[in-house]
Amino acid sequence: MTGFEQVPAVYHREVGDCLVTTICDGYMAYDTLEIMRDPDHAKLRHLLEDETRVCPPVVSINTFLIRDGQRTVLVDCGSGDIMGPTCGRLPGLMAHLGVRPEDVTDILLTHVHPDHSNGLTDPETGRKLFPNARAHVHQAEIDHWFDDAARARATERQKRVYFDAGRIQLRPWIADGSLIPFDHEHEVLPGITALPSVGHTPGHSCYILRSRGEAMIVWGDTVHVPEVQLGDPDVGMIFDTESGVAAASRRRILQRCVDEDLLVAGMHIHFPGFARIRPGYAGAYRFVQEQWFHAPNHGHQPGVWPTPRKVSAT
Ligand SMILES: [Zn+2]
Repeated sequence: MTGFEQVPAVYHREVGDCLVTTICDGYMAYDTLEIMRDPDHAKLRHLLEDETRVCPPVVSINTFLIRDGQRTVLVDCGSGDIMGPTCGRLPGLMAHLGVRPEDVTDILLTHVHPDHSNGLTDPETGRKLFPNARAHVHQAEIDHWFDDAARARATERQKRVYFDAGRIQLRPWIADGSLIPFDHEHEVLPGITALPSVGHTPGHSCYILRSRGEAMIVWGDTVHVPEVQLGDPDVGMIFDTESGVAAASRRRILQRCVDEDLLVAGMHIHFPGFARIRPGYAGAYRFVQEQWFHAPNHGHQPGVWPTPRKVSAT
């Protein structure tokens, strides 16, 4: 049968007094094994199959909308229209939600890679796609992607896809002063702290939202393939600027997720993109994906689950 569309890929979840909405920009069709920086494909395949995932050739792209009644904050802004027909769904899904681009007050960028930041600016016209927003990003992202010497060392594809596209995306925001850089762990908005976790890119950062006793980390690209990288956090990605530094950041963030029982919101976690992290054996971690639930508050007050109905077997 043909002609059927999936339901819109948006999902609401309350975190304290905030409504967090996952908006799935789409997916990249990659061979999962080929994008990991580890030649031991037998090990990678074993880790994937251990977790019952048989190498589906896709990596999802999520963005997260955070609304608290005052601000409308978008964490990453999708891939625009340059990554092919499987991506670029953010604008249509925002319209479905009734959120206009001019309603967005702040954009928090985890880093400047095309699947996260190419929705900032129309590359044809140089027009900002969120006219009233301020964008927040680590200073090292600006420094790196505008560094001509670093660009000269890059491959032709990296020059085009990362350096040139990144410059096109950031330039109008820099020009009118609406790009707000930070360079250390820092409360960028009330209740939202930027947490640098560099390595994947020079200024890659997570964001921690705290509201009424609950805490969520939006961890950007800390993990791309949870089935593998929690079992072996040292496995890097071919997209990493510095894989060893990225792995050290990954371990630090994973441990913090365990220690503080943070709700994880991940850009490349399977939709709807929420999980908790638990300790595993011998330096590994376990990935506990949160189940899809029917109500944004999971049908219960925080910490109080509904009383189950008694069921009879007969
Ligand atoms: Zn990414």
